[in-house]
Amino acid sequence: MIRAMTTSRVLLTHASEGEPVLDLATGDLSFDGMAWHFPADLQDGDVVVHVARGRRTAVVSVATVVRRAGEPAYYAHEDLLSRPVVDTTFWRATARALPTRSVVLNDGERWLDDLERLRYLPAPWPVLDASACTDPARIQRAVLEDGDVADIGRCAGCRGRLSTGHPHLEGSVLFFLCDRCHDTVHHPFGPTVAGLAAHHAPVCPRCGSRDTVEILYGMPPGPVPDDVPIGGCVLDPSGPDLACRTCGHWFRSDRLEPA
Ligand SMILES: [Zn+2]
Ligand SMILES: [Zn+2]
Ligand SMILES: [Zn+2]
Repeated sequence: MIRAMTTSRVLLTHASEGEPVLDLATGDLSFDGMAWHFPADLQDGDVVVHVARGRRTAVVSVATVVRRAGEPAYYAHEDLLSRPVVDTTFWRATARALPTRSVVLNDGERWLDDLERLRYLPAPWPVLDASACTDPARIQRAVLEDGDVADIGRCAGCRGRLSTGHPHLEGSVLFFLCDRCHDTVHHPFGPTVAGLAAHHAPVCPRCGSRDTVEILYGMPPGPVPDDVPIGGCVLDPSGPDLACRTCGHWFRSDRLEPA
């Protein structure tokens, strides 16, 4: 619960370096390597609103300061928002922009009330606007522009099998993602689809490299780039489907231990 004593000052502070890192396994944010600006006169009872910049700028946590005479200040309590409040969400709901610099907020109580309300806003995806991905006209256009829309049977992020995939637009490129991967790429500190795919890329069982590519079977529709391995015309369902670009080993991905 974000709440200030009525007499508290509310400070908004920006991270000065780095970006928070989203742990893809747990969905938790890590703020290691980030520094926050504080005023020299940080006082006991001050409330600090932390803003971080990822793919979007967002409020990530709110903390209350304890400062006793002659001792360094510390946080009594830090409330980490599991759904960071993104700049555009805040603006749409309040018609106020998140300050781009660290400031003491006028009417801090009102800012805290707004954050408290917005952190629990029901959204089809956790935080970042996904309206492009639900717009049939834009999806249609992307399909027309990119005729060979990737394998709809597998998630473009984690390679898991899809029964129903979410169409997801990155620029004008269309991907199909599972629920979990779609949530992840719409997180303001989440990876791109390519980043997610690299994270989930199968590891070569011989050398441990993640630089693996699918082997191309059958008659290619056109010229094949040099670095795509050619498997021949006969597809053996139990044969290798991936090749390692680091050591050249061919292997079957569904026989690997789950990562
Ligand atoms: Zn997925
Ligand atoms: Zn999407
Ligand atoms: Zn290898």
